[in-house]
Amino acid sequence: MILPGTVWLVGAGPGDPDLLTRKAAGLIAAADIVFHDALVGRAVLELISADADRVSVGKRSGRHSQDQRTIGRLVTDAARAGKRVVRLKGGDPSIFGRASEEIDACHSAGIPVRICPGVTAASAAAADLGVSLTLRGLARRLTFVTAHVKSGSVPEVDWAGLADPQATLAVYMGKAAAPHVSAGLIAAGLSPDTPVALVENASLPGRLGLITRLDLLPLAAKSAFRAGPAVILIGEALRKAASTHAVMPCEMSYAGE
Ligand code: SAH
Repeated sequence: MILPGTVWLVGAGPGDPDLLTRKAAGLIAAADIVFHDALVGRAVLELISADADRVSVGKRSGRHSQDQRTIGRLVTDAARAGKRVVRLKGGDPSIFGRASEEIDACHSAGIPVRICPGVTAASAAAADLGVSLTLRGLARRLTFVTAHVKSGSVPEVDWAGLADPQATLAVYMGKAAAPHVSAGLIAAGLSPDTPVALVENASLPGRLGLITRLDLLPLAAKSAFRAGPAVILIGEALRKAASTHAVMPCEMSYAGE
């Protein structure tokens, strides 16, 4: 599936190996070497061939450009040595996955690079909640935004541009920024009772879902979040989840678990 000397950026999905595409599973199994992020699920890594090299290149967050350059060099060096290279990224590589930097690194090195998409965290979270991210007439827009902040600083986000009552907002890397997300959107005019869902470890056995409202988001985030990755979904589309789960704080119950 992979020509020697080429690089595939492969979406590993949100963690559940059953949410990998068949193509991703085939590429992972065919690789001579797999460079993977910290967020890639253990069960997905088990698909790597026993003969292949497995290299963890991810910090959980806050990776800076020097590290990114190092990753680009490791990946292109492996391809130049004639290996079949898979660069495995959580979710979809094209969504907050630093895919562009690694594609550029391959292009600069003259290495062929291709992308295999994956299920992004917001999709997995909506599926866990049993809701749709868009709603005809009510949620006409879906926005993926990152609110990643270094601890102690404030995210630079255009809240006015995001405070649309007819939109669903999927906030990635937003745990630490939850108070800013809430305050920023309310100050920009979004109703304080806008439904919000926090989903940690979407698709994984230790997943947690919590339904709350925008003004209570800081409190909910503080009380609910543990160590896993989490996505915050905001908007009227989440009212369906709010009506089927008690409003804060509660752990979601899943059929069959
Ligand atoms: N490319 C990834 C996103 C990478 S950024 C994707 O498409 O999903 C990392 C952020 O993704 C985390 O901080 C978190 O906000 C989100 N995320 C990744 N996996 C997740 C999961 N299983 N459950 C909830 N959020 C997740």
